[in-house]
Amino acid sequence: MQDAIVIGGGISGLTTGYLLQQKGLDIAIVEMNPSPGGPIQSAIKNGFLIEKGPNSILVSDPWIESFINDLGLGHEVVNSNPAAANRYVVRNSRPVAVPRSPLQAITTPLFSLKAKLGFLGEPFRGRITESGEASESVADFVTRRMGREFLDYAINPFVRGVYAGDPNELILNHAFPLMRELEHEGASLVGGALKRKRRQRKEGTGFKKRSINFINGLDTLPKTISRKLGNRLWLGSEVVAVNPVENGWQVTWKKEGENFEGFSRNLFVCLPSRSVKKLNWASPIAEWIGEAPDLPYPAVHSLALGYKRKDISHPLNGFGVLVPSKEPHRILGALFNSELYPNRAPEGHCLLTVMLGGTQSPELKDAPDDELLRIAKEDLSSLLGVSGDPVFTNLTRWPHAIPQYNSAFGPWKKAIRALEEDLPGLHFGGHAIDGIAMGASIMSGKSLSERIP
Ligand SMILES: Cc1cc2nc3c(=O)[nH]c(=O)nc-3n(C[C@H](O)[C@H](O)[C@H](O)COP(=O)(O)OP(=O)(O)OC[C@H]3O[C@@H](n4cnc5c(N)ncnc54)[C@H](O)[C@@H]3O)c2cc1C
Repeated sequence: MQDAIVIGGGISGLTTGYLLQQKGLDIAIVEMNPSPGGPIQSAIKNGFLIEKGPNSILVSDPWIESFINDLGLGHEVVNSNPAAANRYVVRNSRPVAVPRSPLQAITTPLFSLKAKLGFLGEPFRGRITESGEASESVADFVTRRMGREFLDYAINPFVRGVYAGDPNELILNHAFPLMRELEHEGASLVGGALKRKRRQRKEGTGFKKRSINFINGLDTLPKTISRKLGNRLWLGSEVVAVNPVENGWQVTWKKEGENFEGFSRNLFVCLPSRSVKKLNWASPIAEWIGEAPDLPYPAVHSLALGYKRKDISHPLNGFGVLVPSKEPHRILGALFNSELYPNRAPEGHCLLTVMLGGTQSPELKDAPDDELLRIAKEDLSSLLGVSGDPVFTNLTRWPHAIPQYNSAFGPWKKAIRALEEDLPGLHFGGHAIDGIAMGASIMSGKSLSERIP
């Protein structure tokens, strides 16, 4: 019997398995795709280095940095261009830089004078009851504390950029727990943030978050981990059944039409919620999981577009541009990849990645390729002054892209935690439980691996 089997070779499962292996444990990771890393996929096409899924890792914790260094990847890291601190949000069909200083906040055309004056009242808005907090949506929270315009032109585009979601549906405590913590810590969100910063400075625990990629693209990370895992990683292997047995678990997977079986004392499940539900669990686990609500994963399309630099009039001096749902445009936003990281486009060219779809545009889920390209070109033309045709395009469709931490998330997570408590040796992690970004999935792998001393 092995020490552990990990189901799912996305970044959370890979991190879990690798760290367990580093402890000298006997493990296997089973991943159904032929390549590791889930949506983390980079490719070089026509001289452009594109990311088909995620584009950056936000290094939100010092441990992520040391993990990358321990993997021997420190010298391959590329930091985002300092100009990336600049972010654009569209207002009246024009990209407006998001204010980054008190002076810019006063002068920015992103918000009306009325909204700015209203924002000054934020510290005087009280808290609501604990039960009210538990079900408060992101939209309700932001409207209550900062006003409608701040929701429409700051939080709505941000939520579309991060979750491809709708702030009316996401629950604040699950989707942005930090905002709730800040509300609890200070009379105002800004006050809470400053108080936290001061405390961290005093304790020496502060850490400057930064966005990174790698010289050869983001999939350097999963590829490196999988090389280190060697034959412990089963690729192209779909887990089809899970049964509890005496002192452990029996896992059955299918590879090239043949069935394989593994037995382990611990089982780590690092899967999307719908894949957890689809697994053929033995009774009564099947019934428990069957009753837990599922999370919605809206479709997102990632469209990489290469242009001649001279065909774009915007300076592209930032991370990218986000489009609020109030604006008469259909893309979620566009990333300025070649301005963010080196070697993403041939000389004299630039690479943009347009995101389309999400919760608020379900009609785009099955839109044909040429329709998606037409929408992207039309929006880029009016927002960034793009003229002419792209010299290169690559469309990647993610039919189930990002889980929405909506009202189903609380009951879903509670059901999973109850299952873990009832069945020792069974552990769940990854984006369906521990946060939707790559950094969160890496940290999830770390904490899962710590469950075996
Ligand atoms: C379009 C897009 C853009 C994104 N942009 C960013 C970004 O810029 N920055 C960022 O931080 N995050 C971004 N994300 C989110 C980020 O990609 C995820 O948070 C992260 O990759 C999740 O990793 P995970 O291991 O938790 O899950 P996954 O990567 O989903 O891993 C789950 C794995 O389980 C496998 N699997 C499923 N069923 C089975 C089965 N029965 N048997 C075996 N294997 C199975 C799947 O094939 C998959 O590889 C983006 C996501 C998408 C889709």
